[in-house]
Amino acid sequence: MASDKTAHFQNETDSSESSASNLLESTRKVIKEALEKLGYPDEVYELLKDSLRMLKVRIPVRMDDGSVKVFTGYRAQHNDAVGPTKGGVRFHPNVTEDEVNALAIWMSIKAGIVDLPYGGGKGGIVCDPREMSFRELENLSRGYVRAISQFVGPTKDIPAPDIFTNSQIMAWMMDEYSRIDEFNNPGFITGKPIVLGGSHGRETATAKGVTICIEEAAKKRGLEIKDSRVVIQGFGNAGSYLAKFLHEAGAKVVGISDAYGALYDPEGLDINYLLDRRDSFGTVTTLFKNTITNKELLELDCDILVPAAVQNQITKENAHNIKADIIVEAANGPTTIEATKILTERGKLIVPDVLASSGGVTVSYFEWVQNNQGYYWSEEEVEEKLRKVMTKAFETIYNTAQTRNVDMRLAAYMVGVRKMAEAARYRGWV
Ligand code: GLU
Repeated sequence: MASDKTAHFQNETDSSESSASNLLESTRKVIKEALEKLGYPDEVYELLKDSLRMLKVRIPVRMDDGSVKVFTGYRAQHNDAVGPTKGGVRFHPNVTEDEVNALAIWMSIKAGIVDLPYGGGKGGIVCDPREMSFRELENLSRGYVRAISQFVGPTKDIPAPDIFTNSQIMAWMMDEYSRIDEFNNPGFITGKPIVLGGSHGRETATAKGVTICIEEAAKKRGLEIKDSRVVIQGFGNAGSYLAKFLHEAGAKVVGISDAYGALYDPEGLDINYLLDRRDSFGTVTTLFKNTITNKELLELDCDILVPAAVQNQITKENAHNIKADIIVEAANGPTTIEATKILTERGKLIVPDVLASSGGVTVSYFEWVQNNQGYYWSEEEVEEKLRKVMTKAFETIYNTAQTRNVDMRLAAYMVGVRKMAEAARYRGWV
């Protein structure tokens, strides 16, 4: 998996320490507003504005050249009033404590939106897996599990994949936890390979969830998916499968991007070719000469724009230039609060991240249920259940936005925070 690319990561430059704390601040702002709209007292906000627990770990890893490198990792548990905490682990050079904290809060909101019996959790390791070998990644994954093993578990906090982590990494983590536990424990983690208790449909679940949201949003705007023009930022797990599904549905995917650049063809890109040529980190644009920048990509003429990469991509600087009528956030936090306001005022329909990207955790929940019951479902069963959950969540949030006269993001937070606030109240915490 080692890579020698030195190109500038165009859509990763904004993930600094300060942008992570902005992310946390803006998440808190929306939670506060949502709780106020729902009539909860301030103490509920005081409870929910931060993770209940945040563990920082240091992980020594023997590298291939014989040296030892010590990595920093985190695991945050936002709130467990509803049930065990749940959320992915990302491997990325820009991971910070504030970012993991904000992402854990988002997981709580997502779980509330799709009505799962979980609170939110999140993990991250500061590393660049693109520069690491297979063995080094295995050692890092196992080291992380040893470091957090007291803190997590199938009834406490259940990890999963996120940016730059995949089913192989979940398999190593599950194996390490099972060794510590001295029995096979598939329910410790989700997003596993099928042969180790993974669920059918988990690999494509985030993209399926986004596709369902796009279909619902298109219906609201009287737009046919067939022949609609779509731009997707990011060609990782979510972006690439999404391109595939939309292409299969007859949409014209006119733009895609990765961390190094973007491709544009007004006649529609050859998605099957691009899927075939992408590497395991979703890099494909480096094979082409005529690329545009990620910044240009976002402003392309299209009907549907899907930011499926990293946070802070649509800001007050470019929100006025976005041409798409529907913006569906497959990434976590791609649009700032100011940009949400501008886009909403411009009459755009935004399907917020906490709704659009909740397909992944929904099928993770199905995986955990299957692990607990020891009886497994077919791909069709999983898909049908996912569709039911996602369309219901979309409809509830869309109606909340209409009846309460709020934007879709605030509506999503209002729907997502309610169950957690109620559970905390019944438990006597607030
Ligand atoms: N990392 C994914 C997310 O942000 C999935 C989490 C999970 O499956 O638990 O929603």
